[in-house]
Amino acid sequence: MGMCKPSGGINPPIYGPFGKNIPDIEGCPPNSRTDYYDEKTGELLQQRWYDSDGTAIWDRDWKHNDSHHNHTFPHDHYWDWLKDKVHPPRPEYIGPNGEKTNIHYC
Ligand SMILES: [Zn+2]
Repeated sequence: MGMCKPSGGINPPIYGPFGKNIPDIEGCPPNSRTDYYDEKTGELLQQRWYDSDGTAIWDRDWKHNDSHHNHTFPHDHYWDWLKDKVHPPRPEYIGPNGEKTNIHYC
């Protein structure tokens, strides 16, 4: 598997508490990605991709609360801006063969 990264590059990493999401959803560098790390452990918690307008379109969750043990990690969420332009829902992605992540986001 070759190296793959978004055409707009990777933004400076963000460090923050476990259980939070990347704060930026708009106004980011076009076609870029941001990685979010646990400020205490250094573990990768989340990645977010932005479209050509710099708007969040895709998340990959590497670790978050799973008190009901119903998540597998990593798994992806897409941003459904068509449904709500102010507070878009972030449904979990399920691929055509049941996959939880989309290889086109890397
Ligand atoms: Zn999740």
